[in-house]
Amino acid sequence: MSQELECMCMACGISVYLRTDEVVFDDPGFGTMQMIRNVFCPECGGQLGVVGKAGEQPAYRIQ
Ligand SMILES: [Zn+2]
Repeated sequence: MSQELECMCMACGISVYLRTDEVVFDDPGFGTMQMIRNVFCPECGGQLGVVGKAGEQPAYRIQ
């Protein structure tokens, strides 16, 4: 069963929802965010980073 991930464009900041079975994660190497290798922002073509699983409250919204 696949799950939905909430991702954020590193360039323009929009949220994009992707299924876990359609993304390939990039090797971790910079920053703390898991980056996506094969899907890019539909708006600007920027790189996407995983914010969290859809439905969960991402840490940055809890304040
Ligand atoms: Zn973008």
